Parts: sequence; C-alpha cells; structure tokens
Amino acid sequence: MIDVRWKAFLFILSLSAVSLFVWLTTSVVIALLTFSSILLIYLSIQIHGLYQLQSWLKRPILKDIPEGFGLWEDVFNAILKYERNNNLKKSDLNSALERFNTVANAIPDGLVILSATNEIEWCTANAEYQLGLNLATDMNLPIVNLVRNSHFIAYLYNGVYDEPFKLKDSRNTEAILEIWLIRLVSKQKLLICRDITQLEKVDSMRRDFIANVSHELRTPLTVVGGFIETLSDMEGAVPDNIRSYFDMMQDQTTRMRRLIEDLLTLSHIESNTQPPEDRLIEMSSLVNMLHNDAKALSNGKHKISLDFDEHLNLTGAADELLSALGNLVSNAVRYTPEGGEIHISWQPRNKQAVFSVTDNGIGIEQQHISRLTERFYRVDRSRSRETGGTGLGLSIVKHILTRHQAKLEIRSTLGKGSTFSAIFPESRVIHK
Ligand code: ADP
Repeated sequence: MIDVRWKAFLFILSLSAVSLFVWLTTSVVIALLTFSSILLIYLSIQIHGLYQLQSWLKRPILKDIPEGFGLWEDVFNAILKYERNNNLKKSDLNSALERFNTVANAIPDGLVILSATNEIEWCTANAEYQLGLNLATDMNLPIVNLVRNSHFIAYLYNGVYDEPFKLKDSRNTEAILEIWLIRLVSKQKLLICRDITQLEKVDSMRRDFIANVSHELRTPLTVVGGFIETLSDMEGAVPDNIRSYFDMMQDQTTRMRRLIEDLLTLSHIESNTQPPEDRLIEMSSLVNMLHNDAKALSNGKHKISLDFDEHLNLTGAADELLSALGNLVSNAVRYTPEGGEIHISWQPRNKQAVFSVTDNGIGIEQQHISRLTERFYRVDRSRSRETGGTGLGLSIVKHILTRHQAKLEIRSTLGKGSTFSAIFPESRVIHK
C-alpha cells in the first residue's frame, strides 16, 4: 500500500502537470480555472471523508465502517484492521479471564485479593461463602470491617504470616477456617481460606483419645510401679537370682511413666487454644535455674558454662518456657559424652532474643534435622532409650515455642556437636 503522503504528492504533481499542459495548449486563465476546479473537487472528497469518519466515530460499530474513497479508503481500511485486531485481543483477554475465574471458583479454598491497605479488591465465590462476604457490595471495603475477629485483625496487622491463622466462624461456632496471608509483589495480599472443621474434629478426637488412654494408663502403672518398688525394697521378698528382672521391670515402668507424662503434657499443650499468659519473666533467674539443672543432671561429667544478658527479659508463660528450654538443656547433657562441653546462652540478636544451647556431643546428620520435632522421631532409638528419652521432648518444645510465636533453629554436625536455639520475636522482648 502506498503511503498517503505519496498519494497526496502524486495528486499535486499530476494536477500541476495537467494545469501546465492546459496553460501551454490554451491560456493561463483556463489553466488556473482547471487547477482550482480540480483542487475544489479534491477538497470536497477529503471533507466528505472527514465527515464520514466523524459520523462513524459517534457510533464506532465495526460492520458500519465506511468504505471511503481515495486517501480515505486507506484510512478506513487501516481503522478496520486495527479494530479487528483489537477485538481479537479483547476476546482472547475475555476468554483468559473467564478461564481464570472458572478455575479460581473451582478451587475449594477461598481466595481474596486485598489492597496494600487491606481493602477487598476481588474474591472467589468460596471466599464469599466462607467469610460471609459479598463482592458486589463489599468491594473496596476494609476486610476488618467485615471479618470482625480481634485475633484475625491482630494477625493481619502484625505482618508476620509464616504460620496460618485459625479463625472460628462467628456465624457458625462449629466451623473453623485456616487463613493464610501471602504478600504479593504489588504490595497487595492474597488471602487463602480453607474450611478445616473436619480436620480439626479428627485432630481433637485424636488428642482426646491419647489424653484419655494416657490418663487411664497412669493409675495402673503407678500401682504396678509401686508394688515393684515395695517388693524390691522388702528384704528377702525377691530372691537374688531374679533381682535383675525386678530392676528391669522398675526401669521399664519408670520409662512408661515418663512417656505417659510427656504424652499428657503434649496433648495438654496441643488442645490449649488460648494464647499463653503474658507475664513478665525474669530470664536471669530462669537461665540460672536451667544452668543448675544441667549441672545436676550432668553430675560433674561435663563442663557447663553460661552467659546471659541480665537486662533481657520476655513475656510469656514461665512454666511452659522452663519446660521447653529445660528440654533443650537436658538433651545437650544426654547426647554429649562424658568430658564434653555445653554452653548455655541468652542474648539479643537484632531485635529478637535467642536462648541457645551448644554442645560438642554426638551431633546429628543433616537428613534428620528437619524431622526432629516430629513425635517419637529419634535418630538413634537405643541411645534415646538409654538416656531416658521418650522421643517427645522436641515436639513439646516446638509446640511451646509456637505458642510464643518463637522459632526453633537447629544447627548440627555429626560427631562435632549441635546448637539448639529458641528465637523469640521482638514483640515478646522486654529490656529491663
Ligand atoms: P528424646 O526423648 O529421644 O531425646 P527428643 O524429641 O528430645 O527425644 O529429641 C529427638 C531426637 O533428637 C533425639 O532422639 C536425638 O536423636 C536428637 N537430639 C536431640 N537433642 C540432641 C543433641 N543435643 N545432640 C544430638 N542429638 C540430639
């Protein structure tokens, strides 16, 4: 297709040539008349084309586009092509959007997109149902005006979204939703909600079952253990040749009792959905207590040192933290051979506070580290048993730390030793 500028140029050239020819063959007046009449006709055609374009632009329907004449034929053809391409892109975009909506609505989890300032921008039908929203009326409203749960609001504003949030549905007290928040690059947030009512029911049945069984086993075991102890202590009651069996029975009942105590502790912490009481804990006395416990447990077999920042304190439940941190200390003693060194530390790290126990004991192979907090996961069963372990210690530690929004960090090298650190968030740290 020739450029319109060329077409106009060719026209002016031809017009000039014709006028020149008329001038040469007739007179200058006729030539001028011819020139201006042709120019007038040309101008009328352009004005008509412009008028056609203006009329069409008032109702730009593709099928009504004029055919045009001369230069305008090219212009209308170009508009036609452009509009067709646009329509194709629009329909591609529409079908992609439709596909996205169909897929998003087919996902059983509810999805909500929140703006940087937490207004609802978009959500799926499942999110509308689960959170009681209505996109048509709630779009651009702050989500905190619609999901009115103080814990959810605190979670949203806290800005730490590593763990999901469990939301009890205020309209249906039975229902429990699990909420995940993910930050998007555009500063918006993606909220994913999932109905975990059934899962929670099964989990609570499992917890109740374990708690009940443990509770039921505690009494007969105390009786059996008591009798074994009494018989062992009674002179002449146990013949010497079977005394070793009695010692074994006593060891096993003690182990079972420890296991039951740990199971009861774990199920108590797991079923406790209330946040831990937030009391100020004087950490210097707590770490000193742990240091003394470690020395008592080690019985002089290890070199145990302590360093701590006496102004660094925490808020939380002292009894729970004593049990969790005590577990880390007792593990260090139990998994460090005689003559080894153990270092307990309580120090700030950036704005957080870190309690860590470092030992130069047996260490752990990398492949086991991520699984250590699973119930009954033990790297070496016989060693754990020998040292009186139940395999539940680190699960209890993890639960207690999670309740305090703290994290457990494990660094270890086989044969060289380990460092177990409990990292507490800034929100729990008090400098005093
Ligand atoms: P257990 O009662 O068996 O000690 P825990 O849950 O406390 O159970 O620990 C899980 C496993 O982690 C242990 O069986 C042990 O293999 C490993 N472990 C824990 N602490 C240490 C440590 N300080 N050094 C080496 N291994 C450790």
